[in-house]
Order: sequence, then structure tokens, then C-alpha cells
Amino acid sequence: MKNINLIDPVKIEYLYKEDSLEVHCFLVSHENGLILVDAGYAEDDGSGKARSLEQIEAALVRNLANWDDISDVIVTHAHRDHFGVLTEVVAKIPHKSKVWAGSADVQSIKAQSHFEGEIAGLHEGNFVKVLRTISTPGHTAGHICLVHDQASVLFMGDLVDTLKGYLARPPTEFTEDQALAEKSLEKVAQLDFARVLFSHGEEISKPVQALRLFLADSNNQSGEK
Ligand SMILES: [Zn+2]
Repeated sequence: MKNINLIDPVKIEYLYKEDSLEVHCFLVSHENGLILVDAGYAEDDGSGKARSLEQIEAALVRNLANWDDISDVIVTHAHRDHFGVLTEVVAKIPHKSKVWAGSADVQSIKAQSHFEGEIAGLHEGNFVKVLRTISTPGHTAGHICLVHDQASVLFMGDLVDTLKGYLARPPTEFTEDQALAEKSLEKVAQLDFARVLFSHGEEISKPVQALRLFLADSNNQSGEK
């Protein structure tokens, strides 16, 4: 395994209601291997599975790595475009890597994915190797963001996206508790990071500044109503 890319964003492309959409998962290197943040996309009927698995494998090849290098898989939340190929990924890893998720989402991921292995619950401040958990409920009850302190990177999950090239909240029908999600967003906006990696959409420059402006703008707009 070459230890050049500290973090390698893996783009999973898929067809969704005739539109091509994309979700990122990430390979994060640590001393003894790789962490996979999120596990690709698959619909209820399993469509998209083969493609997601192929795209993760291509990223491993790009990094001169193997499935066996994955020590841990962390699922940011219980939505199908984030754990779609969890069972298939873990089946590929000979030593079986450890699987983690925000503790309040563990049961939901198990129920939806039929993943039969153990999923360990993460709470605020818990570390998985180099990644620290920030509990950010709302989008789902157990949604988590992750922080790579050493690289000053935040993994945003689905609190906001940049699919259209600018910051936007996910469509309301996908968020369980909008008010709670907003609180979580305000919580991460108070922290400082050099980079923010979004599950949907590309990186933007000065992300923390942009996030604070985005929240200030939304507050002004809701005050004017
Ligand atoms: Zn989601």
C-alpha cells in the first residue's frame, strides 16, 4: 500500500430517477491500513451494488492497496447510498474489518442492509484510529460527522451538500428531524477545519467561512418571513 494519499475520495456514480447522481465514500490511511468511510450505493432491489463495489476496488488499486488493507468501515448514517455494499465490502476483506456507525443508527442499518456482522456504536468523541466522532443527529437519529484532526479535515456526511456547486441542505423528505439537523450543523460550523469533504458534491474553498455565511443567510431569511 502506498501511503501517499492521506484521504482518497471515491466517487460512486449511479442513476437515480433518470438523473445521474453521485455519492462519495472515502479511503483514509492510518499507520496500519485504511479506513473506508461509507460503503457505496445500492437500491432496495440491489441495483448499483456491482458498480459501487467496482468503484471502491478501483480506488484501492489506485492506491496500490487491497481489500485486506481496510481495517475499519465507518458508516456516517443509515441511508442506502452510504451503506449500500457494506455486506459485500466486508465479505471481500479476508480478516473481516471492524464496522462502526453512530450508535442510534446501528439497528436501522442492520435492518435495512441485512448485514449480519457486528456494528459497533460510536458516540461523541470516540476515535476509530485517526478519525474522531462528532455526534450530529437530525438527518438521521445517529448521523455522525468525522474529523481527521491531524489533516484538519471534516467529513460532513449529509448535513449539507455542494451538489449544485454551492452549499445546500439535503431535500427535506430525506431528513428525519430538520430542527435537530440544523442544531448539528450549527455545532460543526463553530469548529475549525482547513477542508470539508461532502458526501454529495465537491470541496469548496474556505469551507468554514462559507458554512457560517450560509447559516447567517438562512437565519436572516427565516427572520424576514
Ligand atoms: Zn442521507
